[in-house]
Amino acid sequence: MEKKSFAVIGMGRFGSSLAEQLYSLGYDVMAIDENAERVQNSIQIVTYAVQADSTDEQALREIGIRNFDVVVVAIGLDIQASILTTLILKEMGVKRIVVKAQNERHGQVLYKVGADRVVFPERDMGLRVAHNLISPNVLDFIELAEDYSVAEVAISEKMHNKSLIELDVRAKYGVNVVAIKSGRSFNIAPDPSDVIKEGDILIVIGQNNDLKHFEEEV
Ligand code: ADP
Repeated sequence: MEKKSFAVIGMGRFGSSLAEQLYSLGYDVMAIDENAERVQNSIQIVTYAVQADSTDEQALREIGIRNFDVVVVAIGLDIQASILTTLILKEMGVKRIVVKAQNERHGQVLYKVGADRVVFPERDMGLRVAHNLISPNVLDFIELAEDYSVAEVAISEKMHNKSLIELDVRAKYGVNVVAIKSGRSFNIAPDPSDVIKEGDILIVIGQNNDLKHFEEEV
């Protein structure tokens, strides 16, 4: 299978972190920014870095933007530039367009003009940190649908050496344990008789309100 190639437009905090991660995972990454200094700072962390204004269709054509498997638009503050860039990329026939949105309304417009996926990094991180503040045992929190989420929860002492049947979290809290992480091993189809040990981490799924009660109790 051929390796996917990525272009990331906008080398702000989000774009440069994303580009650096993809590159360090072994992918070809082109960084694009209209700001010469940002381009210069990106040279070390990606395969290529070029200076261009992404609202200029001709400039994108010269870069050969259509040849990338995925193009990420990581323009933060300039909502107009982010929307216009997305529209141009769609019209040029880019295969997959992923765009960072500032807010819900911006996200809706991005889908309308052709984004395949819209991400809300600040909103999602805020959600995670909020859940971690409710309970420090919550290590991660991902929203799946409007009212359903998955949480990664470190277990407290009162759960040590108890089986899933004994804990009965489904009846008590209405949440389901979908996996148990024990050190490096990962049990993705836990049996009701499986015993939870000190240091284990539970992956639970459920309605947000039920998850909240569970997080407060564990
Ligand atoms: P963050 O919040 O992730 O730090 P910023 O809004 O600070 O995002 O950064 C966005 C980056 O996108 C900046 O480096 C800016 O120069 C770049 N940028 C903004 N508009 C364009 C454009 N039309 N073409 C190319 N790069 C752009």
